[in-house]
Amino acid sequence: MVEMINSLKVLVVDDEKDIRDGVERILKRMEYTVLKADRGEAALEILGKETVDIAILDLKMPGMDGMELHQRIREIDEKIIVIIITGYATIETAIEAMKQGAYDFIPKPFEPEHLRIVVRRAHEKLRLIKEAEMLQAERARTLIDLDMEKSRIRTIVESLPTAVVVTNTSGEVVLMNPAFSKSLDLDVSAEVAGKKLESYVEDEGLCEMVLKLSKGELDAGGEAPSYELLVSGSKYLMARGQPVINENNECMGAVVTFSNITSLKMLDQLKSEFVAKVSHELRSPLSTIHEQLALVLKETSVNETDVDQHLIERAKEKTHGLISLIGDLLDLSRIEAGGISHNIQSVQVADLLKSIVDFLGIRAQSKDQSLTFELASDALPLFNADPMALESIFGNLIANAINYSPKGAVIAVKAALAGKYIKVQVSDNGFGIAPKYHDQIFERFYRVKNDDTRYITGTGLGLPIVKGLVDSLNGEIKLDSDVGRGATFTVLLPV
Ligand code: ADP
Repeated sequence: MVEMINSLKVLVVDDEKDIRDGVERILKRMEYTVLKADRGEAALEILGKETVDIAILDLKMPGMDGMELHQRIREIDEKIIVIIITGYATIETAIEAMKQGAYDFIPKPFEPEHLRIVVRRAHEKLRLIKEAEMLQAERARTLIDLDMEKSRIRTIVESLPTAVVVTNTSGEVVLMNPAFSKSLDLDVSAEVAGKKLESYVEDEGLCEMVLKLSKGELDAGGEAPSYELLVSGSKYLMARGQPVINENNECMGAVVTFSNITSLKMLDQLKSEFVAKVSHELRSPLSTIHEQLALVLKETSVNETDVDQHLIERAKEKTHGLISLIGDLLDLSRIEAGGISHNIQSVQVADLLKSIVDFLGIRAQSKDQSLTFELASDALPLFNADPMALESIFGNLIANAINYSPKGAVIAVKAALAGKYIKVQVSDNGFGIAPKYHDQIFERFYRVKNDDTRYITGTGLGLPIVKGLVDSLNGEIKLDSDVGRGATFTVLLPV
């Protein structure tokens, strides 16, 4: 504003020289630039050449009077602030001039202080007008910037090589980029935002996940929820989503990205096929070696040394371990290939559990453990499945309970009908599993290594087999456990 003070120009129009000069003196002391005219015509001439901020006009002048001059000034530049100087006789005319837009008036004769006050007020008004204009300009600029920012973000999202779709809280698409339509083999011309995701994507599971995310109903505890989908029968995509949260912590929708995992899937399948093939090829020679070792052991005469006997015994144990590893690998390959459940029958689950408990009871006894079975509700309905699959599920869980519990532990197997499910619980009060491993132990070959489990042998394939079989039966498996608190595995099988 300082520069404005210096550049502010005041035009004084009065036919009386004394007044012109007096006003000039006062205003110059206030550091204004002063221009003077002795009549209306001269004033208009100045206004034709100079920009003026404030005009001080005498109302009564020969020729063009102040009223007319005021009119003409307004026509030239509306922004000029006009102050009228008037004698008492013309005060009504002054009021009229104010009605027509003059800013203020000073009755003659006036004190210098009065003039100063009125001009300062006019100056302040000018300042406010300028400030308002600047704010307005700034606002317009901000809006333009905002607009540019919006289109810039849109351009970036459109150019992303990763497929992206953004939805609002009702699960309607607000943005989808070309990579998205390409990944999902959508007809690009059909790409109109504003419709539900279902209009573009058939996969119900994906739509359900995105809708839940959009509504802020899906909390994966910091991890982006993911979903695997098959497109056009041959392309596997992995969708990962995240709710969009604004600064007030409200959910505004969801953003979901898609990556193509077809090659990973193929690699996984090739790996499984390879493992299956190798396992298959290894099984028969190993079994032969195992049998031959058994034969050698039986035929070893007394005069052979204990050391030889011991070595052959060890070799036999190792081949046995390898054969069971191969058995597990083949089971797993079969489950993954969906090739189980050949022999579907109506199974009495309680009877089956009892026979497994009886069978494994011998192993529990050798560790002084108690292993019990309890049917905790009325008779269970018959369950349609391959009994081998059920034996494998519960055999593995109970064997684990025996293996991962110390001497004297208590192991309980309970079965009950829970709504639409047959619920089987295998609990032990053994070493337990820290929650951070609860997911990992269902992965192939994963074994928890600590002081308690160090000397327990195993392949790390039991639980993946159990999980694969439970999944194939549309069931669920849950684990409740912590270190030192034992473990309870719960299997739910839909009747
Ligand atoms: P394996 O028993 O051959 O190692 P599993 O897949 O059956 O393989 O189990 C994976 C790991 O999970 C085990 O190595 C063990 O650390 C842990 N585990 C399984 N069951 C129990 C249990 N009942 N109590 C404590 N740990 C267990």
